[in-house]
Amino acid sequence: MSNSPELGPLWVKLAGAGVRPTRQRLELAEILFKGERHFTAEMIYAEARSLRYPPSLGTVYNTLNQFVQSGLLREIAFYDSKLWYDTNTGPHSHYYWEDTDELSDIPPEHIPQLSVPAPPGAKVTAVDVIVRVRADEAHSECPMARFENFLK
Ligand SMILES: [Zn+2]
Repeated sequence: MSNSPELGPLWVKLAGAGVRPTRQRLELAEILFKGERHFTAEMIYAEARSLRYPPSLGTVYNTLNQFVQSGLLREIAFYDSKLWYDTNTGPHSHYYWEDTDELSDIPPEHIPQLSVPAPPGAKVTAVDVIVRVRADEAHSECPMARFENFLK
């Protein structure tokens, strides 16, 4: 992190979303926004151990929640209680890899077009699809070899 983050791209990103860019928020933002990624609070807490002043897990949760409220992150709720966060805040759906505990985006061409009517007096604000997958042990060769076999 540079010595004077004022008016750097992350400072502008936070301030532009209405979040006061404190040193701690900027340091966490630097970890969060280093690419398009999916993560849990625990993952960020572990990565932030290397900071000179590592934040508590509670601070990580609060910061992630503030970033969600101001539109900087998208929250992905799982029914088995773990909360994930996504730097891609646009509408899209996910694969959840059960064996490695990871999330990845489903290519838009594979998203089923669900037309679920909203109940009377309500409107649909988002459709979140999570497809749970597991590596197929019968097909453990590399994807390119599998694809070449498929073409034979
Ligand atoms: Zn995503």
